[in-house]
Amino acid sequence: MPSAIVVGAGVFGAALADRLAGDAWQVTLVDRDEPGHERAESGGESRLLRFSHGPDAWYTRSAWRARELWRELESDTGTELLVESGLAWFARREHGWEADSERVLRRHGIPVERLASEHAAELFPSVRTDDLAFVLHEPAAGILRAREATRALARRAGRRGALLELGEARPDGTGVRLGDGRRLEADRVVWACGAWLPRAFPELVRLRVTQQDLFFFQAPPEWSTPPLPGFVDYDGAAYGVGALDGNGVKVGPDVDGPALDPDSWPRSPRPESERLTREYLAMRFPALAGAPLTASACCQYSLTGDTHFIAAPHPDHKGRVWLYGGGSGHGFKHGPALAQRMAAWLSEDEGPEPRFGLGPRNPDRSLRTAGAGG
Ligand SMILES: Cc1cc2nc3c(=O)[nH]c(=O)nc-3n(C[C@H](O)[C@H](O)[C@H](O)COP(=O)(O)OP(=O)(O)OC[C@H]3O[C@@H](n4cnc5c(N)ncnc54)[C@H](O)[C@@H]3O)c2cc1C
Repeated sequence: MPSAIVVGAGVFGAALADRLAGDAWQVTLVDRDEPGHERAESGGESRLLRFSHGPDAWYTRSAWRARELWRELESDTGTELLVESGLAWFARREHGWEADSERVLRRHGIPVERLASEHAAELFPSVRTDDLAFVLHEPAAGILRAREATRALARRAGRRGALLELGEARPDGTGVRLGDGRRLEADRVVWACGAWLPRAFPELVRLRVTQQDLFFFQAPPEWSTPPLPGFVDYDGAAYGVGALDGNGVKVGPDVDGPALDPDSWPRSPRPESERLTREYLAMRFPALAGAPLTASACCQYSLTGDTHFIAAPHPDHKGRVWLYGGGSGHGFKHGPALAQRMAAWLSEDEGPEPRFGLGPRNPDRSLRTAGAGG
């Protein structure tokens, strides 16, 4: 039976541990904290699951496959993790990211509708659309309950036989040194440490870790998700979700914030972000202008230079040690599908995705031209 140690129980590591344990690997999953804890990038209450990725078919297929795997996780664990509320893209240009996305979605048979901007008004209690070329509606997209989903993955990994170790880990050659001094070894060691990955491998991993603020606003009951879809205003660098699970309407400015130390706690959102968010809310959803703020949150993006993920073998350890992360503000949804690919790469059934390698990244090949956008 092959063995693996996965360090980091965010969505990347928990999904990988779950997948490997399901494939009959002997797995140890290590985290210094509980899966989905509040400082982890996977610890937020919700994340968008969308299939649109501009012209990039790889991520589109991955997100579509992930949807099926998230559904399987729900039925295996008796949880409701994916709220299939749909997602609306506010397209400001006729020939931008949304038009590219639509072409790829249609080519892959993924449900999508192009709505004239006045018809998009039917999706929300009140929405301004006169600045839009059209709205791209993905009816099968939705919202993942992120923290719960991360915990469900770790739980199922445990049920499938993975051992969960609570503790700080650091690299020790091809092994893992735990805070209590023990050294763990396995056929494969995968470091899935989110924003902390460069601390473990400063010579190999470059990530920009930025503070990302989120705001929740009080709104009348007709602003609940479901049925309201999530939304992304790609060129307007904003995204959000209606009121879900008793939280208010969520809006996040999708511009990279200032550098953040992922260990810093507590964190407070910047007044500048709140101002931008309120301006956006008043512009796009005039009925919510002046809505009271009910809560806010700060999380970190772990951005690679081109926003493509990292999934690569350590150059000194002949495929035994792997680095895995660089979620770049859009990794959550892919968790279980990416884990499936990663399992094939670890088993050497397939060669890894070349774009996810170590080394310099070219920002001109970025997945995005504006915000990361969930
Ligand atoms: C505000 C915001 C909005 C986002 N929106 C979306 C969205 O809508 N859709 C989407 O798909 N994605 C979205 N993302 C991105 C997504 O959340 C991340 O890509 C994903 O959660 C990254 O997961 P991870 O497992 O790499 O990192 P993390 O969840 O941070 O997990 C890393 C884990 O490693 C552990 N760890 C680190 N170092 C060590 C060590 N030395 N020893 C032991 N344990 C260690 C940490 O404790 C942590 O639990 C968003 C991100 C943010 C911040």
